[in-house]
Amino acid sequence: MHLILAKPRGFCAGVERAIQCVKRALELFGKPVYVLNHIVHNKHVVKSLCEQGAVFVRDIDDVPQNSILLFSAHGVGPEQWEKAKKRNLKVIDATCPLVERVHRSAKKYTEQDYTLILIGDAGHDETIGTMGWAKGKVFLVQNIEEARSIEIPPTEQLAYITQTTLSIEDYESIVKILYERFPSLRSPSKGNICYATTNRQKAVLSLAEKADIVIVVGDAESANSRRLADIAKRIGKKTYLVLDATEIQATWLEGVKTVLITSGASVPEEHVQGVVKFLCSIEPCTVEEVCVASENVHFEIPPEIKGKDSFLHNFGGL
Ligand code: SF4
Repeated sequence: MHLILAKPRGFCAGVERAIQCVKRALELFGKPVYVLNHIVHNKHVVKSLCEQGAVFVRDIDDVPQNSILLFSAHGVGPEQWEKAKKRNLKVIDATCPLVERVHRSAKKYTEQDYTLILIGDAGHDETIGTMGWAKGKVFLVQNIEEARSIEIPPTEQLAYITQTTLSIEDYESIVKILYERFPSLRSPSKGNICYATTNRQKAVLSLAEKADIVIVVGDAESANSRRLADIAKRIGKKTYLVLDATEIQATWLEGVKTVLITSGASVPEEHVQGVVKFLCSIEPCTVEEVCVASENVHFEIPPEIKGKDSFLHNFGGL
């Protein structure tokens, strides 16, 4: 069997930063440190951080007063900041800077009295956070059907923003329909779909043709992993989204000569290598990594956790 490893795949700069934030907080302050929502959408990452002393909560009310609280890579709305302040929590913000940019757009547009359309998934942590910054003047559009049917009160000032992990193909179709319906619609000055989403999708689009099946390593909770699987399916390939090698069934490989393997932006590389090892244990394989785009993005961790002194300075001591 021939295995093609798509590159880029796996961790993006925002995920690396968020994980580093939790590890650094544990190093500086000991356990426990609290994290609102999953720091990134991957069960293995969450489990490993839990074992190191992180406690994941869905509600800030579950965090003891005066504790350390991290916001996840997906970001939160202003109401969560307020809640944290009321409980006197020391907040470390692990929101990806590219998500934060979307928050700033939401805030800016609504402060200028724009009505906003947010293209994204209902209930996703990122969407919930972004909607919070838009202060209620926002309509969510999830798909082409909703772009066609959404009713928006007449306004001169209408703009759209998007979730960072959309499918580029869906995004383009949705925006086309919205422009036909609302010609004065304003777009974000920079596209909101992030470089990591773009590159991982581009790699699947250009490599899936060469494969008989596609295996996407990723958590079903991860929007960007699901998009990678959707793209491969639309090309007509049998596609499997797996958390790790243990979910692979031998029957999937019957008659298969070439497998494309990729992974979502929150997936540790060891689980991709686990898939490769598992496939190689079934029959002899050749492995080829094909690079479609190079990435050189790095985000610094917040200054307040770069060193204990700077944290004490920022938060006035613990
Ligand atoms: S997928 Fe994109 S927006 Fe999300 S954390 Fe990674 S770089 Fe940031």
